[in-house]
Amino acid sequence: LPEYAFIGRSNVGKSSLINSLTERKSLAKTSGRPGKTQLINHFKINGNWFLVDLPGYGYARVSKKSKKTFQKYITDYFIKREQLVCAFVLVDIRHEPQKIDMEFMEWLGENNIPFCIIFTKADKLKAKAIEENVNNYISELLNGVWEEAPSYFITSSSKGYGRDDVLNFIDNINADFFKATKA
Ligand code: GDP
Repeated sequence: LPEYAFIGRSNVGKSSLINSLTERKSLAKTSGRPGKTQLINHFKINGNWFLVDLPGYGYARVSKKSKKTFQKYITDYFIKREQLVCAFVLVDIRHEPQKIDMEFMEWLGENNIPFCIIFTKADKLKAKAIEENVNNYISELLNGVWEEAPSYFITSSSKGYGRDDVLNFIDNINADFFKATKA
């Protein structure tokens, strides 16, 4: 089955988004304490795709050793990927582009891994600030190594914004995926 990976810095709102996408609150627990999602979890959705919850990266308070372990989990997953269709890189919409996220997206690009950006916590900003920050983020990418901007989604798990956009995007790709595997 096709897989869609969700990844981002710890505390970006990944668990909350996954809860909102899966509506199975007991499966992906949210936490006020960053760094809690430590292993790779697969959630089967609608019986036809997997949501893959990857460990959060870049959390300052974990030791160098566990940072390395997380990194290895993540890179192993991406290198071995067989069914991965797209990675969703989560970024907090309030923040300036962060070096660690930029480097991670470059790494995905170098490894030919398709990705989209999910901006999180959009409820925390007014519409104008959202637009400014998104434009700023995308121009930063285009000033870097990217010739083309990735697709992106503006979400808020607390208000449910963007949830259907992400799910529809996945459903559309899956429709093609199953058409292609049948043919
Ligand atoms: P993770 O470490 O990336 O899994 O992040 P969590 O989902 O645990 O969220 C980290 C913190 O951000 C928690 O205190 C959440 O309540 C908060 N948070 C997550 N998503 C949203 C959102 O859409 N809006 C707001 N206002 N807060 C959020």
